[in-house]
Amino acid sequence: MRTAYISHRDCHAHDTGEAHPECASRLSAIEDRFVSTALFDVLRYYDAPEVTEDQLLRVHTPGHLELVRASAPESGYARLDPDTVISPATLPAARRAAGAVVLAADLVMSGEMESAFCGVRPPGHHAESRQAMGFCVYNNIAVGVAHALAAHGVQRAAVIDFDVHQGNGTEEIFSQEPRVLFCSTFQHPFFPYTPLLENAPNRVNVPLDATAKSEQFREAVTGHWLPALEQFKPEIVFVSAGFDAHRDDDMSHVSLTDQDFRWVTEQIVKVAESSASGRIISVLEGGYELNSLARCVETQVRVLMGLH
Ligand SMILES: [Zn+2]
Repeated sequence: MRTAYISHRDCHAHDTGEAHPECASRLSAIEDRFVSTALFDVLRYYDAPEVTEDQLLRVHTPGHLELVRASAPESGYARLDPDTVISPATLPAARRAAGAVVLAADLVMSGEMESAFCGVRPPGHHAESRQAMGFCVYNNIAVGVAHALAAHGVQRAAVIDFDVHQGNGTEEIFSQEPRVLFCSTFQHPFFPYTPLLENAPNRVNVPLDATAKSEQFREAVTGHWLPALEQFKPEIVFVSAGFDAHRDDDMSHVSLTDQDFRWVTEQIVKVAESSASGRIISVLEGGYELNSLARCVETQVRVLMGLH
């Protein structure tokens, strides 16, 4: 299977300060793993382009874009919210992170690539239409989904979010968009503490309590996501790939294993093969314990490529 890995050196340069969990070592750990396991030899690497203003404006307000620009310091650090650090290299990184998902949509919709993994930071799924939040500046995956709808005429796009934190930004941006089905699992109650919305034809939220392990997670997927996805028949599947529900990751209490992340990716591949000609775009969100992060990303990419 042809799988793209899309990233950019600017994404490494985004500096969040000392001891911030969302750090450049995350991408280095993933890419080192790709090298040590020879996965880089079979992936097709692409440099992420910069997102355009028009592409951002499909999901963000002009006020949000202006505030982000005005907040970027010439030196040192500023904050867009208590968790979201912005420094001189942040804006170039954020433009590449969103641009990566746009390129992924172009590659996958044109058939040049079957799937793509976007190794990007800052992450995106907490960023709402009018505000940055929770380490996220622009909602990268939403920008890519909106591009698939607007530029490629996609009528049914699924967004699957298994990050341990609820993807409030993606949910908000597409809440009134029937062409997007949003399926998520997340620890609840937990950050971002946004109200738990009732499920709707385009939304399948499955909260997990803090003691949840493999069994509860897999039940959520098989009992809630998969029936909705089978009915929706997505033409393309986007994945907000956060690995912070891993038991080795102390960002949360939910305790998933490497095998769970492999399994969920296998389920996603089945969905994509049944209605979307295998088209999958996975976008890095959370995951802060470097060893499990690198292993789980490697495994996910191997499953996408059909290498087991
Ligand atoms: Zn997270």
